[in-house]
Amino acid sequence: MLFGDSPPPGLVGIARLAAESEVLEAKRVVEYFEIGCRTVLNRTRPGLPFAWSINPYRGCEFACRYCYARYTHEFMELRESEAFENRIYAKSGVAEALRADLKKLRSGESIAIGTATDPYQPAERRFRRTRAMLEVFAEGKGREIALTTKSDLVKRDIALLAEISKRNSVSVNVTITTLDAGLARMLEPRAPRPDLRLKAVEALAKAGIAVGVFSNPVMPLITDQEAKLDRLAKAARDRGAIWFGGGTLFLQPCARRVFFPFVAEHFPHLLRRYEERFGESPYLRGPYAEAIKERIATIRDRYGLRAGPVRPARPEKDDEQPWLF
Ligand code: SF4
Repeated sequence: MLFGDSPPPGLVGIARLAAESEVLEAKRVVEYFEIGCRTVLNRTRPGLPFAWSINPYRGCEFACRYCYARYTHEFMELRESEAFENRIYAKSGVAEALRADLKKLRSGESIAIGTATDPYQPAERRFRRTRAMLEVFAEGKGREIALTTKSDLVKRDIALLAEISKRNSVSVNVTITTLDAGLARMLEPRAPRPDLRLKAVEALAKAGIAVGVFSNPVMPLITDQEAKLDRLAKAARDRGAIWFGGGTLFLQPCARRVFFPFVAEHFPHLLRRYEERFGESPYLRGPYAEAIKERIATIRDRYGLRAGPVRPARPEKDDEQPWLF
C-alpha cells in the first residue's frame, strides 16, 4: 500500500491546507532537557569516512521509524520505544567543549555533524546548539566538516555555513528517502516534508554551499523502486545537488522494535520477508544489496551526479561515502 504524491489525494479545503502545513514546533508529548557534556567530538569507529562525529542533542524528535540511533538513549537507560523521540537532551556548553576538543584533531581529520541525531530538529529553533558550534567553526580554518540533516531549518544558517566555507571544506547532506509526502509522513512522522527538504537543497546550492542528497536508508519494496529513486535523483539534480547516494536499510534490535510494528501496520504483506531477512543479520548483504548499489550508481550516472562531496587532498576512492542516513 503506497501513497500518492503530496498532498495525499482526496483532500480539499482545510484538510488539504493542513496536510501541506509545515511543522513549526512539535510539542505533543516532547520534553526537553539540558545535559552537560565534557566533550562534543567523538572518535568514530574505523572504516567510516569521517574521523570524528558531533551530535549537539541526544534523541531526535523526527521519530523516523527505521532510526538506528535509538540505542543512544539506551545508554541513558531510557528503553521505552518512544523515549528517543520524546525526551530530547540539548547538550550544554557545546561551544566551549568544541573549542577545547578541536585541539585534539590531527591535520586532515574530518568531522561529521549529525550522525545519531538531527542537528536541525525542532529543538534547534530554540536552543541553537548546532548554531553555537558552527560559530566556533567559523573562527577557524582548514577543517573538513560534513553536516547531515532532514530539516529545512538548515536554511537559517546558510550565511554562517557560507562564511565557514570560505576557509574550510563544508558539505551538507540532505536526507530524502522518498518524494512521496504521505509515505514520508508515515516513515518520518515529524520531519519536514520532502519538498521542503528539496527547497533547502536549492537554497544551499544557490548560496554556493556544496550540497547533496542521500536516500538512506533504502527500504526494500518500500522506497527502493528504480522509478522512485530516479525521480528523487532528478529532483535533487534539478535543485543543485552535486551528489546522490543511498545505502540499504539496516536494523539493529532497537530499530527493529519500532520498524517491525510499522511494517505490520502499513505493509503487512512484507512483514514475513522483513522478519526473515533481518532475523539473520541487521544488514542486508548479498545480491539485493549489490543490486541497489548498482541501481544507485546507474541513476547517479544518468544525471551526472557524484557519489559524494569532493574532499580535499584525498584519493578519488574516498569519494564513495556510505553515509548512514
Ligand atoms: S532524523 Fe536521523 S537521527 Fe533523527 S530520528 Fe530520523 S534517522 Fe534518527
